[in-house]
Amino acid sequence: MVIGGGISGISAALDLADAGTEVVMVERLPSVGGRMLQLSETFPTLDCAQCTLTPRTVETGQHPNIKLLTYSEVVEMHGEPGNFRVKIKRKAPKVNWDDCTGCGACQEKCPKLVTTNFFERSVGTKKAIYTLSPQAIPNKPVIDVENCRYLTEGKCGVCSKICPVGAIRYDQEDYYVEEEVAAIVVATGFDLYPIEAMGEYGYGKVPDVIDGLAMERMCSASGPTAGEVRRPSDGKVPQSIVFIQCVGSRDPEHHKPYCSRVCCMYTAKHARLYKHKVHDGKAFLLYMDIRSTGKGYEEFIQQSTEEEGLIYLRGRVSRIYREGDKIVVWGADTISGEALRIDADMVVLATAIVPNPEQKALAETLGIETDEHGFLKEAHYKTGPIDTVSKGIFIAGCAQGARDIADSVAHGSAAASRAQAFLARLRRSAA
Ligand SMILES: Cc1cc2nc3c(=O)[nH]c(=O)nc-3n(C[C@H](O)[C@H](O)[C@H](O)COP(=O)(O)OP(=O)(O)OC[C@H]3O[C@@H](n4cnc5c(N)ncnc54)[C@H](O)[C@@H]3O)c2cc1C
Ligand code: SF4
Ligand code: SF4
Repeated sequence: MVIGGGISGISAALDLADAGTEVVMVERLPSVGGRMLQLSETFPTLDCAQCTLTPRTVETGQHPNIKLLTYSEVVEMHGEPGNFRVKIKRKAPKVNWDDCTGCGACQEKCPKLVTTNFFERSVGTKKAIYTLSPQAIPNKPVIDVENCRYLTEGKCGVCSKICPVGAIRYDQEDYYVEEEVAAIVVATGFDLYPIEAMGEYGYGKVPDVIDGLAMERMCSASGPTAGEVRRPSDGKVPQSIVFIQCVGSRDPEHHKPYCSRVCCMYTAKHARLYKHKVHDGKAFLLYMDIRSTGKGYEEFIQQSTEEEGLIYLRGRVSRIYREGDKIVVWGADTISGEALRIDADMVVLATAIVPNPEQKALAETLGIETDEHGFLKEAHYKTGPIDTVSKGIFIAGCAQGARDIADSVAHGSAAASRAQAFLARLRRSAA
């Protein structure tokens, strides 16, 4: 079983399935792809994230050895290594997916627009019946029960009337299934530290101060602004943006002590994408220092500083507030020691990578450990980075700690290899 259908879980599942092992993939969202589905272009090559991801998600959806259980969560586990019995909650999409053809007519006609912080990061809206992306795998919609007008007010019912195959099921209930598996890979990914937890950045209350994933949605051609960078408050194209790195990371006194590893790179990427879209716009980048340790990463940063017209300032921010139409960023230039004030149209915070809030409960269900920050704990930092204290359970990707896509793919493949070795050992001892 692979829990989590992001790029690390997909890599583990495809490697196992290609080797002839049957895989059950459990993903809590309606479709697979994880955070990479939210990204626009990816460093260091600026490839389109969807173009890189889609062949992998399609393969996952079509692989004869992969059983995909999306919109599902693990709730209980019993048994022992080699013979785990896992109880899974299958959430009701309120649509009969067997009948649904994925035509999209329901989404098109649904009158209810919902602002969502979760996927579109409040940059845009979705409908009350939705798929996460136009390339969703599976390409089947779910109804947002908290916002659907029929389910909350007894009005509307448009999707039911329009669906050509009668697939809408307002009365569909959640149900449970049980799967027996020999080994488990946990690849449940990450979340971002909430801006609301940070006083110096206005507790998330200053308009047009957004996080990195919101910037990704804005830059994404298939995102809510069709790839245009616009201020969420008034839709204006910002003429200046301040990008702030290490927000909540490397701050043991107030927030998280660790480095989130991807923010220096994605901040440079964001600033470059902004400059590609708004040529005369000013991009200020406030940093502590630049960490660019992956292959081709230093060159990417060099190019950003020398050729792309980005303004890098070594500085720390003490306060952000709104003054009229502008966002005032106050801080200190840590090279000159001078006070720093920038009046900007928009601010993008590279907030810390943190574990998903539900990860601790899942770890308890599976009998594995988490570290002091809530990331999944490896059996041995150096010699067992993929194993856990529980035999037969392996970990992959950002669930274990912050990392980029290339490392997440490698981690997923490593987990597949560890699981395969465990299965081979089981077979040998049974022979
Ligand atoms: C703003 C930003 C920009 C980035 N840009 C880049 C870039 O340009 N290049 C690059 O290399 N990296 C980039 N990254 C990093 C990249 O997003 C990660 O490396 C990658 O998404 C990690 O994949 P993952 O599978 O480990 O986790 P995720 O992508 O988080 O996937 C985890 C999956 O598990 C699911 N899940 C969680 N909990 C459960 C549960 N209990 N049960 C079932 N399923 C569950 C989630 O829904 C999700 O689908 C960026 C990160 C951020 C924040
Ligand atoms: S019934 Fe709900 S999901 Fe269907 S169209 Fe109306 S608001 Fe949208
Ligand atoms: S209209 Fe019916 S068949 Fe088409 S996507 Fe919606 S639920 Fe599926």
